[in-house]
Order: sequence, then structure tokens, then C-alpha cells
Amino acid sequence: MLRRAGPCLRHFLLKRKSSTGYSSYSGEAKMSKPLQARRLEGIDKNIWVEFVQLAATYSTVNLGQGFPDFPAPDFLKEAFVRALSGKNHMLHQYTRAFGHPPLVKILAQFYGKLLGRDLDPMTDVMVTVGAYQALFCCFQAFVDEGDEVIIIEPFFDCYEPMVKMAGGTPVFVPLRPKAPKDGKMMSSADWRLDSAELASKFSKRTKAIVLNSPNNPLGKVFSREELELIADLCVKHDVLCISDEVYEWLVYDGKELVRIASLRGMWDRTVIVGSAGKTFSATGWKVGWTVGPNRLLQHLRIVHQNSVYHCATVAQEAVAQGFQRELELFGKPESYFVQLPKELQQKRDWLVQSLNAVGMKPIIPEGTYFLVADISEFKSDVPDVPDSDEPYDSRFAKWMVKNKGLAAIPLSAFYCEAHKNNYNDFIRFCFAKEEATLKAANDILQKWKQEKTSP
Ligand code: PMP
Repeated sequence: MLRRAGPCLRHFLLKRKSSTGYSSYSGEAKMSKPLQARRLEGIDKNIWVEFVQLAATYSTVNLGQGFPDFPAPDFLKEAFVRALSGKNHMLHQYTRAFGHPPLVKILAQFYGKLLGRDLDPMTDVMVTVGAYQALFCCFQAFVDEGDEVIIIEPFFDCYEPMVKMAGGTPVFVPLRPKAPKDGKMMSSADWRLDSAELASKFSKRTKAIVLNSPNNPLGKVFSREELELIADLCVKHDVLCISDEVYEWLVYDGKELVRIASLRGMWDRTVIVGSAGKTFSATGWKVGWTVGPNRLLQHLRIVHQNSVYHCATVAQEAVAQGFQRELELFGKPESYFVQLPKELQQKRDWLVQSLNAVGMKPIIPEGTYFLVADISEFKSDVPDVPDSDEPYDSRFAKWMVKNKGLAAIPLSAFYCEAHKNNYNDFIRFCFAKEEATLKAANDILQKWKQEKTSP
């Protein structure tokens, strides 16, 4: 207002303020219009804000949020330093909006090899600010008011608000656990889709399904049979698939990762989402990408050019060099994509042992760096809160971090509000941690076990 007022009026307004202490232009002119856009309604809660804060305040060992506490590989850091301080000063300037040419070229080559098809780097790949922005672009580009998007529970929590923000309606379908026979430990493979239930969620309103394999939080790697079921339904109902594959290199016990885009009829209707954060253990770099046919990616480019427009050039250059190295070492023992899962599988097994010892029943993950454990036998440890609809696992995770110093995330956080009490006997740990961190977690669990067993 003041900027618009001419010099005389401004003088008058300022004078009025100083003589009466009252100003007709500052602070008092409250807006009566609603401030918040309608599309933000009901999506204000974010579990991470609360649990990250709790971990920061109370934890001595944080196995909550999903990021490695070990360093990113040297070859990647060195590539970043070279990009930063090398002779090519243009790496400090904007690059191509839809992806730095060296990065889209190597991604096209790499995914072309994985999918067995020729990819055009300029049209079939787009670089984003982490996988998060890739997902945002997908929902904004494809989802209209009235469209439904199928989300498989438990799910990475941002899918639901992103669908809603785009005006769509999330439709949830759960993975249903089936206890293994012969007293064996449960595996993430024991959590399965019910085929009839899944089929019942598809309708004329369904625009897309979100698939996350390997899945955060369970670590489930969907089998070929399950993916074929999803693919057949997508083709039958003319539905898109947003395939979040950020943990694509973190698969254990020699299990095969089947890419849904490689199944019959799926390339044309799938967007693959990837992340250098997960691939190269550098979550802070926030380099992500989408891979898919131009007929889909052309719409993502519109969202990208009208929002973020461009991602940090130096980081893209370094990730391009990382992929160059990995292409040369593909499948060899020195490859990071071979070494990282080997190390993480060992860490997974240590955590399984530690949890077993204290009586938390681990669900062995086939992939990712997460492990979900059953805490149903700890109900007597945690004070009951009568009339609270807070799920038991959430109360347990808060109690554990405050009383034992160990941070984890309740599984109920990966369900929609209406289903948050359906599977609330579980917590999720992240095992992408230094040996010392996992040892410290083990010490806490062993001490806890002694306290429980001593009279
Ligand atoms: N998808 C899944 C399943 C994730 O777990 C995460 C990160 N936790 C993301 C996407 C976002 O990845 P980025 O950090 O690259 O944005």
C-alpha cells in the first residue's frame, strides 16, 4: 500500500502513525479473505515433523528417519569436487531445464540397458529435485478433480497429500500379512495384495496406481506374479502406473527386482521414479529423475518448467559421473550397486538378531534399508491412554525414544487416517547406519532385555 501512495500521502500516513501511535496501513488491516488455498485443507499434518523433533530431543540412537549416517562413496564426492572446482565454470550456471545433458544421456543409457529398449535422453528422461519432486510432477500432471489414484498400504506418506493437492481422491488397498508356517520368521513377502480386493478398487474413475517396489516401509519387493496382476488391471482399465523405484539397488538374498515398465503393455503407461539420494547414499543432494515415454513425460515437463524449472547443475554433473562409473562396472564386484546391498544385507541381519533378542519380531525385508518389527509383546511396558485414538505403535515409539533413547517410526504413519489403527503393532527401523550406530542400538536392546528378565 505504502509503495503505491505518492510522496505526500506517505508523509501524511507516517505523521499520523507517529502522533497517535495508530496506523491505518500497518498491521491493523486484517484480511478477511481465507488465506489458505482450499487444496491445502486436511493435508497439514506431517508425521516427520513430530518424530524428527522427538528424535532430536531424546534419542541417543536414531534409527528413525531414512538416511544413511555413513559417507557417500568417494568416487561420487570426488566427482562433485571436480565439478565444483574444475575448469568448466559453466557448471556453476543454469543447465538444461529438464536435465543436465550428461546426466540425461547416461540415465537413458543405463535405464535403456535395464529395460532393454532405446531411450531418447531428451524426451524419455527428466531430472527433478529428488524423487519427491518427480512424484509431485506426476500427480500434478496427470490427476484431475474427480480422478482416483490407488495407493497400496503401507505407503510412503507423501503420496496421499500429493494426490489430494492435485484434486484427486486416494483409494487405498492394503497389503495383508499372512503368518508364515512352521514358526519361521515373517518376511516382507508374507505381506501380499488380495487379488480380488485389488481388482475391486479399479473403476472408470481410476487414473493411476502408485507402486513402490522395493516398498518403504516394509521392504517388500513385489513378485513378478503380483506385478503382472497390477499390470493386467492397469491395461484393462486404462490406468497409469507411477512406479517409485528409489530403492531399486537395495535388494537382498539374490532376489530379482522386476520392473513393471518391462511387462507387456506397461511401458506406455508407466513413469519410473528414481533417486540419487538412495542410489548413491547422498539424500541431501536431492537429485532425482523420471524415466518414461515422451507421451507421459511431456506433461511432467510442463509442471517442472512452471515450478522448479531447474535443478542444481554441479550435483547433476557429479551424479552423471557416478552413473558413468557404474555403467562401466555393471554387475562387477567393485560396482557400488553390488557392494552397497551386500553391506546393507549384513546390517539388516545384525538388526534382525538384536531385535529378536529383545522379543521384537522382525519382518525380514527383501529390499530397502528399512525393517519393520512387531512390538505386540511390549504392551505392558507402555502406559495406556484411555480414550485416546492414538495408535499403540505411535505411543510405543514415543515412549521408546523418551525412555530408551532409541528412535523408530510407527508403522501406522504409513496408513491413511481412517486405517491408522488397522496395523498398529509395528515400528520401522532404518539400518543404513554405521556399524557403531547399530552396535549402540544393540546395547540399548540388550540392556532392555536384561531389565525385562531380571526380577
Ligand atoms: N519415495 C520413497 C519411497 C522414499 O522413501 C523417498 C525418501 N524417503 C522418496 C521417494 C523421496 O526421495 P528423495 O529424497 O530423492 O526426494
